[in-house]
Amino acid sequence: MTRHVIVTGASRGIGEAIARHFVELGDSVVNLSRSLTAPPGVAKSFSVDVADSTAVSDAVKESVGEFGPVEVAVINAGITRDGLSVRMTDDQWREVLAVNLDGAFYCARAALGSMIRARRGSLVFIGSISPFVGVAGQANYAAAKAGLVGLARALAKEVASRSITVNVVAPGLVDTDMTSDLGVARETMAAMIPLGRVATVDDIAGVVGFLASNHARYITGAVIPVDGGLAMGL
Ligand code: NAP
Repeated sequence: MTRHVIVTGASRGIGEAIARHFVELGDSVVNLSRSLTAPPGVAKSFSVDVADSTAVSDAVKESVGEFGPVEVAVINAGITRDGLSVRMTDDQWREVLAVNLDGAFYCARAALGSMIRARRGSLVFIGSISPFVGVAGQANYAAAKAGLVGLARALAKEVASRSITVNVVAPGLVDTDMTSDLGVARETMAAMIPLGRVATVDDIAGVVGFLASNHARYITGAVIPVDGGLAMGL
C-alpha cells in the first residue's frame, strides 16, 4: 500500500508518531510544519505556517504534483497559549484560532480538492476533549477545537457522496512538548484518568491509522475520544 498521506505538524509530538505510523505501512508521507524536521522515512517536508493560506495551498499543490492525489490528510498542527480569559490578550486569542482553526480549514480545503477529483480519501482532524469537559485557561483553544467539530461535520456531509470520510480524534492528556510545562495541573489531570496513565503519542497514532484504513470506511462525521476514559465518551 502506498498512499499519499499529508500530516501537518509531523515534526514532533503526536504528528511525528502519526507520520511514523504511515511510513511503517509503506505510505508516502508528507509533512507540513514550520521546521523541516521529520521522522525517518518521511518522503518530503514543507516549511509551512498552516495559518498562511497561500503557503498551505502551494505546498499541497506541489505535493500532489509529486506524489499524486492526496488519499489521507491528518490535520494535526496545533498550539496552546493558555491563560484565564479576563487576562487573555487579543494576540493569544487570535494566534490559537489562526493556527488551530483557520489553519485546519486551509489544510482541509487544499487536500479535499485533490480527494474530490480522485473520489476517495480520509480526512482526520486532531481535536481535543478540552471543549467537551471545559478546561479553565483554555477559552481560545477550546473554541478552536470545538470549531473543528462543526467544520468536520459540515465537510463530512459535503464530501460523503465522493466516498471521502471526515472525522475528529479527540485526545485527552498526551505526553508531548505541548503538555511538558503544565506542572501540577498535569498531575491533577493525570490522576483523574480512569485507565490510570497519560496517553503516549502512539495511542493516538493507532486510532488515526484505523480511521484512514479500509476498516473505517463506514465511519464519518464522528468524534472519537482517545483519552483513557477522562471524558467518558464526551
Ligand atoms: P507539539 O508537540 O507541540 O507539536 C505541535 C506540532 O504542530 C509541531 O509539529 C509543530 O511544528 C506544529 N505546528 C505548530 N504551529 C504550527 C504552525 N503555525 N504551522 C505549522 N505547523 C505548526 O504538540 P502535540 O501535543 O503533538 O499536539 C498535536 C495536536 O494534538 C495539536 O493539534 C494539539 O492541540 C492536539 N492535542 C494534544 C494534546 C496533548 O495532550 N498533547 C491533547 C489533545 C489534543 P513546528 O513547530 O515545526 O511548526
